[in-house]
Amino acid sequence: MKIFSKILIANRGEIAVRIMRTCREMGIASVAVYSEFDRDALHVRLADQAVPIGGAQAKESYLNIEKIIAAARLTGADAIHPGYGFLAENAAFAAACEDAGIVFIGPRADVIRALGSKSEARKLTQEAGVPVVPTPAENEFPKLIKASLGGGGRGMRIVRNAAEFKEAFSAARGEAERAFGDGALLVEKYIEAARHVEIQIFGDHHGGVMHLFERDCSVQRRHQKIIEESPSPAVTPEIRNRMTDAAIALARKVGYTNAGTVEFLLAPSGDFYFIEVNTRIQVEHPVTEMVTALDLIRLQIEIEQGGKLPAEQPQQTGHAIEARLYAEDPANDFLPSTGTLHMWRPPQPSDGLRIDSGVNEQDEIGVYYDPLLAKVIAYADDRESAIRRLTYALRNFAAQGVQTNREFLIAMLESEEFKSGKAHTGFKLAVSTKVDEELDGLFCSVVRTYIERTEHARRRILPSIPPRFRNNPTPPPATKFAVGKREYQVGDSLGTIDTLSVGEDHVDALVKGVRHRFGICRRGADYYVRSSLGQQLVRRLPRFPEKTAGGQHQSANSPMPGQVLRILVAEGQQVKPGDGLIVLEAMKMEQTIKATIQGVVRAVLVKPAEVVAPGQMLVEIEAVEDANEHASSTAAKH
Ligand code: ADP
Repeated sequence: MKIFSKILIANRGEIAVRIMRTCREMGIASVAVYSEFDRDALHVRLADQAVPIGGAQAKESYLNIEKIIAAARLTGADAIHPGYGFLAENAAFAAACEDAGIVFIGPRADVIRALGSKSEARKLTQEAGVPVVPTPAENEFPKLIKASLGGGGRGMRIVRNAAEFKEAFSAARGEAERAFGDGALLVEKYIEAARHVEIQIFGDHHGGVMHLFERDCSVQRRHQKIIEESPSPAVTPEIRNRMTDAAIALARKVGYTNAGTVEFLLAPSGDFYFIEVNTRIQVEHPVTEMVTALDLIRLQIEIEQGGKLPAEQPQQTGHAIEARLYAEDPANDFLPSTGTLHMWRPPQPSDGLRIDSGVNEQDEIGVYYDPLLAKVIAYADDRESAIRRLTYALRNFAAQGVQTNREFLIAMLESEEFKSGKAHTGFKLAVSTKVDEELDGLFCSVVRTYIERTEHARRRILPSIPPRFRNNPTPPPATKFAVGKREYQVGDSLGTIDTLSVGEDHVDALVKGVRHRFGICRRGADYYVRSSLGQQLVRRLPRFPEKTAGGQHQSANSPMPGQVLRILVAEGQQVKPGDGLIVLEAMKMEQTIKATIQGVVRAVLVKPAEVVAPGQMLVEIEAVEDANEHASSTAAKH
């Protein structure tokens, strides 16, 4: 048996971090590779060594076979783990590793190739005596059109009648060509109200094959999984036996080695049909780990070291559910959301709660990669308890700065369909857009208190404040706020709070007689507030918007991520175009942010050394034609 001393992980994000954890536990050094965009990413920091492999785009970096093999050579890695996505199901990559004398932790290249095509896999499956989704007769509907080399639910089309077919077919072909470089399509009978149930399989290099039971991944959005569990609430012991037998038969037929997943659709009748094999570790593997108490990454590594599968069939105990927390906007058709992760406070993990994540607070969430932020996995003796544990964890997961699907996941877990175990792949939960004005108002009150007690107070006493500032009167408290698209004004019916104490990052207050802690994180005019009542972004609005008759407001925003080096102006100061406002350090250079209009500085929204995000408001300037006239009009107003 060979023992690896170093493994290169050809991936990023949570799965790279996850694989490193097992490497550490096995006493194996890990090597990360990273794109330019990821140079400060968590997976790079946690690895023993790291090798840069190029630009921000996947094509230049995590898909670059040559560079990754060169990185393995450079660091003397014995093996490469591909994770999922990127090169994980790329037969050429598996072959290139082998040619370079580096072990590929996954199935053999020929098996990846054969099973990578859905049509080829269908043939092999039928030969193994396993039922596949029927091919519909010409006038039989609904049909499903999918790309033979497809993945991630992309390019699939449901066709409900003959009139739609032709157009859908050619559209699907074009999409398949563009997305997968091959226009080959597959037409299947569309199984209504089906569940997605998959079997985890493993094979070793001694002819051993085993299964690790099922995962139910029926809760999907655009054919993409978002909640997964094991066991499946729809699988009886009898179905489980038939399905695992089918998966094992296919594994034996192709001489499967390492980890794989055989995916089936389970019809309401109890019949099931093969759809595809994923020849890699899956995103949702943690639910299997929790119900079997096995480490699947360790199994993968041990198999390639020449180890044998356990002699006895593992047991399936308890119930595990995983929810995928994505940076995406449910209110905007679930499009990926980008920005800075200003607030990132996952709940405390425990025996029954696991959090797999690859991000840090303040990370930029870009457009280049998958928007998965974290997987939250709960385990308990029974399904109901696991649901409760997961829901509670998601409620207490502070993730702000980008839009996330967190509340959507909670709503899904609390829906009757899910709770009763009846949610199938066609189930769509309507996105709730309900607004809780009382809660919003409460958060605005909290922010107002925070501003009064910290920022205004600090300005009066801090010696680093520009000298002329001290001569200015304390600015009046902020009174206008926005939560989402709604505006709130103090004096309206903002919720009343009884403040107990205020700190740099929190306000403790009594709300209707109950003590609450509101965690606060300020980014310019944005205040991220979190508490057990919920989390919200409260934006402080300019103080004098009604006085802009003839004048206008300008906010100087940060053009890029950086750090505030110096503040060149104070509130009340007159500025003209070209005057320096703030000096930032960004991209290792000093950048002076300048005024572009003539006016008066109304607010300086950052402090020295503060880290700022692109687009963040730094200074608020009110335009005035004649600053003297303005000063008198302001005086008259107050
Ligand atoms: P991909 O490789 O793009 O993920 P799959 O073939 O694995 O595509 O299918 C993804 C999802 O699409 C399934 O989980 C299921 O929800 C749906 N699906 C696929 N084939 C069918 C079918 N024949 N009938 C009904 N739903 C299907």
